[in-house]
Amino acid sequence: MKFSKTVLTLMMSLAAAGAAHADDYPSKTITMVIPFAAGGPTDTVGRLVGQAMSKELKQQIIVENVGGAGGTVGAGKVARSAPDGYTIFLHHIGHSTAPALYKKMSYSATDDFETIGLVTDVPMTIVARKDFPAKDFKELITYIKANAAKLNYANAGLGSASHLCGMLFMSALEADMTTVPYKGTGPAMTDLLAGQVDLMCDQTTNTTSQIKESKIKAYAVTTKTKVPSLPDLPTADSQGLKGFEVAVWHGMYAPKGTPKAVVDRLSGALQTALKDPDVIKRMADLGTEPVSKERATPAALRAHLRTEIDRWGPIIKKAGVYAD
Ligand code: ASP
Repeated sequence: MKFSKTVLTLMMSLAAAGAAHADDYPSKTITMVIPFAAGGPTDTVGRLVGQAMSKELKQQIIVENVGGAGGTVGAGKVARSAPDGYTIFLHHIGHSTAPALYKKMSYSATDDFETIGLVTDVPMTIVARKDFPAKDFKELITYIKANAAKLNYANAGLGSASHLCGMLFMSALEADMTTVPYKGTGPAMTDLLAGQVDLMCDQTTNTTSQIKESKIKAYAVTTKTKVPSLPDLPTADSQGLKGFEVAVWHGMYAPKGTPKAVVDRLSGALQTALKDPDVIKRMADLGTEPVSKERATPAALRAHLRTEIDRWGPIIKKAGVYAD
């Protein structure tokens, strides 16, 4: 193939512009899309990590909450954003369950995103409004089984972590409660505190302070072992629900086509942020911890996302839960 001199010069200057872009990056404010409402657990993790990353990147990271449909509205928006490094995205396990849950999606969870790295794995808690009648987990199970038809539980939409946990909990109990979807479990928590919904399964990053202040009732944590920040809360597994285990992993992404040098820069900033003593301390207070440096990488998140998509597909198919 023969190129004219003008075309060659143009190609060379385009390549140079690309390189200069990566060198200068970031030269303006970065937007982090959170696919849930403000005040919820994903928002809390995103703001905490975003603030620490911005110290390293020397540019501000602002959060944009784009809630709805279990995180798929925000994900779709990011998939259509410019791949210039100025839009990044924090999502959780829901990014891997959406392909099985949603028959129609406006984006591909794998092909429309660059992976930056894993961020944290967060335990969940089974909680209820303060005046819920059951005094412990055993009573809770008996009560739900006897009254399922008149009980409801809040979640952040189909495919959200709270939805998945609630679905697994109901299927373990063989009980069918009414679900009340929100744009995130931040607003769901407001209604739980006000006694307008009965139950919720949500991350410790949203429930810890409410549990400690006895503003809600907590019955169990969903990890294999207890959470150090909630030492009095037993696991669901130890209280009769053998093998019941859900933890919510979070990953950071950018739109497909974001230059590799930019993705690597973001991943480096993420790794630094996850070593920040303030981030470690705040996460510990909220019942979680940052992932290791090895997991906060593009390759680790890409592999994890693939494994999780493959793991959840058959489980969701078997449960027969779908969005329209
Ligand atoms: N983590 C919540 C969920 O998926 C949503 C949120 O962050 O508000 O249930």
